[in-house]
Amino acid sequence: MKLFSPQLVGIIGYPLGHTMSPPMHNAAFHYLGLDFMYVPFPVQPDHLPKAIEGIKALGIAGCNVTIPYKEQVIPLLDHLHDSANMLGAVNTVVNRDGELWGYNTDGIGFLRSLTEESNIDIRGKTVLILGAGGAARAVAFTLAGAGIGRLIIANRNHHKGLNLAVDILHIYPCQTEAVELKAHVLKSVLPSVDILINTLPLGMYPQIDEMPPIEEEWLNPPLVVCDLIYNPPKTKLLALAKKRGCRVINGEGMLIYQGAEAFQLWTGQKAPILIMRRVLEQHLLRQV
Ligand code: NAP
Repeated sequence: MKLFSPQLVGIIGYPLGHTMSPPMHNAAFHYLGLDFMYVPFPVQPDHLPKAIEGIKALGIAGCNVTIPYKEQVIPLLDHLHDSANMLGAVNTVVNRDGELWGYNTDGIGFLRSLTEESNIDIRGKTVLILGAGGAARAVAFTLAGAGIGRLIIANRNHHKGLNLAVDILHIYPCQTEAVELKAHVLKSVLPSVDILINTLPLGMYPQIDEMPPIEEEWLNPPLVVCDLIYNPPKTKLLALAKKRGCRVINGEGMLIYQGAEAFQLWTGQKAPILIMRRVLEQHLLRQV
């Protein structure tokens, strides 16, 4: 008798809430006929070391890691890939013959969304990133390494923004500076910016009326405006930018492509992007 023994992957975080990753990955496994299953693992804070040991003990193929464990998981792993080492954060773990490798696919996920999906040419461009948290770090390092010309980081905690700028300057020859997250500062830098990227949670469901300190008139084509938020699909910032004629990109593509990169690390196969997008959009529609 053949035992039903799918390879298990999942997501570790706490609390996990409504994560989109299980339906997105399970639909992709099913579509490709892969004997994998993706499950949520809400791991309480004291149990993280045991949970990570459990990946080895149970022969789990790997997992995603989310808030609040992206940094805490690092000392519990055997190896760090450059993508995670540079950022000091892991969002994907791969179990290779009993040894755990940590990766970070957030930055490449954003880059693929911008360049492959939206066909934006980033070479030599000036990019303004709002925020200096985990997502901003991933996006900033990846874009600096991918050939943008100039990077401006605007964060509420200016010191944190400066630290991120210094970290990038240590590695990449990208002209990088940190400015204050204040309306008059953003107004003065925006005319020289090609791509604006919001990584602040302002405008995320249910606080959909919030937005960064930016006035509508400062958003002018050919500026490309990205928001890492995917729920709602069009934040107030994106709606205003679109009204002004700017190209807009939301966080859905980043979510799909960071998942697609993890999928490929676990299975060795290219992820079916269209299937993942369809499932994600169905689940988002149900949440609105
Ligand atoms: P994080 O590490 O907690 O960073 C949050 C950032 O937002 C910090 O720079 C923080 O500034 C700033 N911030 C928070 N509240 C603020 C406020 N009221 N006013 C001004 N600044 C504020 O979070 P994260 O992991 O980077 O996530 C940030 C956003 O990206 C979230 O909306 C998340 O859903 C989204 N995200 C999307 C994807 C995707 O796949 N699409 C992936 C990852 C994250 P301080 O440093 O001053 O506190």
